[in-house]
Amino acid sequence: MPIVVLAPDVVSKIAAGEVVERPASVVKELVENALDAGASQISIEANGGGVNSVRVSDNGAGIPRDDIRLAFQRHATSKIASLADLDNTTSLGFRGEALPSIAHVAQVELVTRSKDAASGTYVRVQDGKVAETGVRAHPQGTTVTVRNLFRRIPARLKFLKSASTENGHITNLVSQYSLAFPRVRFTLVIERRRVLHTPGSGSLRDVIAEIYGLPTAQAMLEIERTGKEVGIAPVVSGYISPPSLSRASRSYVSFFVNQRWIQSRSLARAVEKAYEGLLGSGRYPVAVVNLAVSPQSVDVNVHPTKREVRFSQEPIVFNTVYGAVRRTLAARAPVPEMGTSPISVPVPTTQQKSLELPVAEERDLSAPLTMSQAKAAPEMPALRVLGQVASTYIIAEGPDGLYLIDQHAAHERVLFEKVQAQRAQQGVEVQSLLEPLTIELDPRQEEMLKGGEHILGRFGFGIEPFGERTILLRTVPAMLAGKGIEGAVKEALESLDEDSDPARTDERLAASLACHGAVRAGQVLTQDEMRQLVRQLEKASCPRTCPHGRPTMVYLSSGRLEREFGRG
Ligand code: ADP
Ligand code: MG
Repeated sequence: MPIVVLAPDVVSKIAAGEVVERPASVVKELVENALDAGASQISIEANGGGVNSVRVSDNGAGIPRDDIRLAFQRHATSKIASLADLDNTTSLGFRGEALPSIAHVAQVELVTRSKDAASGTYVRVQDGKVAETGVRAHPQGTTVTVRNLFRRIPARLKFLKSASTENGHITNLVSQYSLAFPRVRFTLVIERRRVLHTPGSGSLRDVIAEIYGLPTAQAMLEIERTGKEVGIAPVVSGYISPPSLSRASRSYVSFFVNQRWIQSRSLARAVEKAYEGLLGSGRYPVAVVNLAVSPQSVDVNVHPTKREVRFSQEPIVFNTVYGAVRRTLAARAPVPEMGTSPISVPVPTTQQKSLELPVAEERDLSAPLTMSQAKAAPEMPALRVLGQVASTYIIAEGPDGLYLIDQHAAHERVLFEKVQAQRAQQGVEVQSLLEPLTIELDPRQEEMLKGGEHILGRFGFGIEPFGERTILLRTVPAMLAGKGIEGAVKEALESLDEDSDPARTDERLAASLACHGAVRAGQVLTQDEMRQLVRQLEKASCPRTCPHGRPTMVYLSSGRLEREFGRG
């Protein structure tokens, strides 16, 4: 579509207003224009907190030479022509306000070349008017440079925060757009330093890796798709963190409606509700949630910056998002059963509290905890063992409620701390095998053994070479006696490989030994064995999680029992 000036009746219907609040607003408008122009590569540069200069280059469609002057006129746009178009618009911009507004508060230079143009065109805009035009070489696409933002409006300049705060806003903004457009390759350079570069591979997980780091990207769960049709109920896609990964702030949850980054308290609540009972208080998930809806069922014309949208059927959208997140969590990271109890007490959602489940202590990724690091977990009370359920869980009573303990996870925790304690003192307790065991290794395991024999030795594995790819095992850690030793040795060898930090390696080895040494699920335990295990668990420094971070127990408080039975 050519750029046209919107008719006054259309203008009166669009939520006009201030779009340039701070340097990040300039970046937002320019990046949206580049995306609307179909760019597959966008580079953004900012200097002096974005006040000195912002430059956005794209390889999109470019602006036809004859349209360039119009682009700087108010309400001139190529994206809608009528009110009817407004209902169906899928472009990010449509008001024709950004370029003139920016040109009003800064100096703007634009170089552009459209597909069929023989050369690029340059324009310089001063005080909102085109002051100079010329021919300048440029590949297909557009480069807009904005200098001295608010230079002539001291009141606005004063309102800005430090350069680093403004740079933070810019970085966050570009991060959000990269999450929304994984097919586009974004490069962000701030104060001459490259701070972000996405591959443009089309994979959202790749973008998450760039923005939140590889470990987070790997841990994220793909949201189970809700359906195919794009209608009133959105099609939800994206990634959410497992309950074991959380942050102390809400700002790691992003929503995109038809690839537009939006802010929505209601959607934020839907996601938080889906995690109810899974995260501790003050903890929030990491999530990238995409909603595809028909353009008619969402109104983006609510606010000048379009950060808020209105859905025609808010409750349907809420429930679809809640359901998609909840199902993903239930399928991929099992939700403790009691949290989804069908007997629910009708209390207002704001007060609705799920079971007081002591969930796995969450890991804050900004400060990763090592497995053995003592965490400030509330003390575990003395428990009275009542019995065993499904040969897997111990059921016990405490001073204020009922506990279900996963016998394997609990024993893993106990053994893990025992190995760590023994290593810190005299060394891991060793048992000699009556008959040495011969074990065949694969090439990779053999390779690992070369560098790691002494480490395994410290954990009680007495290993001797025994010809081609075969070893002779004479001693094992005592806790493995009577267990599947071959599997344990091989896993120990493999866990040597993953990183070079010796403390982490030791921890992984200890966790692996604990796992192999622990009672299995499905093993019948005597009352005495259960009591012993619970006593040991009570003494553990982190009784609530296994060494891998999974919960060892779930808790049903007396208060909750009273409520469920209508007594409270
Ligand atoms: P809007 O995006 O609401 O249409 P803008 O003031 O942001 O209004 O831009 C005005 C017009 O200039 C757009 O409609 C588009 O035709 C053109 N334009 C602006 N930036 C670009 C760009 N990077 N590539 C191609 N066309 C652009
Ligand atoms: Mg625009």
